[in-house]
Amino acid sequence: MSRFPLSPNPKPTPELERAEIMRDPGFGKRFTDHMALATWTADAGWADRRVTAYASFQLDPATAVLHYAQEAFEGLKAFAHPDGSVWAFRPEANEARLADSCRRMGLPALDDGDMLASITALVGADREWVPVGGEASLYLRPFLFASNAGMSVRSATEVTYCCIASPSGPYFGGDGVQPVDIWFATDLIRAAPGGTGEAKCGGNYAGVMAAQLEAERHGCSQVGFVDAVERRYVEELGGMNLFAVTADGELITPNLTGTILPGVTRSAILQLAEEVGVTAVERPIELRELRTRADDGSLTELFACGTAAVITPIGRFADLDGEHVVAGGRPGEVTLQLRGILTDIQYGRRPDERGWLTRLA
Ligand SMILES: *Cc1c(COP(=O)(O)O)cnc(C)c1O
Repeated sequence: MSRFPLSPNPKPTPELERAEIMRDPGFGKRFTDHMALATWTADAGWADRRVTAYASFQLDPATAVLHYAQEAFEGLKAFAHPDGSVWAFRPEANEARLADSCRRMGLPALDDGDMLASITALVGADREWVPVGGEASLYLRPFLFASNAGMSVRSATEVTYCCIASPSGPYFGGDGVQPVDIWFATDLIRAAPGGTGEAKCGGNYAGVMAAQLEAERHGCSQVGFVDAVERRYVEELGGMNLFAVTADGELITPNLTGTILPGVTRSAILQLAEEVGVTAVERPIELRELRTRADDGSLTELFACGTAAVITPIGRFADLDGEHVVAGGRPGEVTLQLRGILTDIQYGRRPDERGWLTRLA
């Protein structure tokens, strides 16, 4: 018996409509028939766990999260394997990070195993929503928020946990893996020492939107951030970590200093470096170093990584000082190799030697 018992949706999406959605699901636009829920109160702790029909929340206008953004979330994917089984990639890492994010946001962490139990129950209920074939997956979004009403500034007295699921198509469409352009915002900062930068919380994303608009005004699709103190070191993107490959065979990523989100994909890539013949190095990277080395050719590849896109090559980056092309603007060899290994493991096309996969259904 699941910790998250199922009350089936009495009005599931008709099969034809679901098939239509699954043909081209996009990303984060359509949601499955169910969601997982639980409620925390100071008196009872976590209770009322269940999987039930996907539905709107009814929220008092004074609900705390709407005013003070006390919220944390996760993002992971369920992958269908050729034999029809469904798997998650390192969900225990997401569960641990969610607990860390909750601590930083003053939210109660879920009880041990609740995140995994909720996604297992949800995927079990919505199994036919897991896309099969291609590079499609069921994106899972666990999140919790202060759901008590009241505008005095104090920590939550009631917290709602929810997990929703969204079928998502291949991040890159028919043209294959396409490099993106990055705008380094040097005036707008994402995270400061002691702040919430290493927590996965909605507030960090709210703070990124203005910089994202600035990037788009400069013709770039993504924004990159530098450190808050010296405005010199690159940190990460709005929702992805950053890696560089050098001509002398190093795979460099900024070390985690408390202002960078510790990505699960980042951690996997560091462990896979050896397999593609590069040496993983975690150290501070100056924006100036990226500029000079992109121009003199000793920076051979640059890419971003995260659950949604896995690995996205960066073909060009720019800031107020000018623009720089990396590797002729084409996806690099190490970038594509790492991406291939990661997705092969995720989709069951390569043995899971590190025990990264957990079966959900
Ligand atoms: C989620 C996230 C990442 C990527 O983390 P993954 O666990 O690899 O998906 C990177 N940066 C930020 C700011 C994020 O929110």
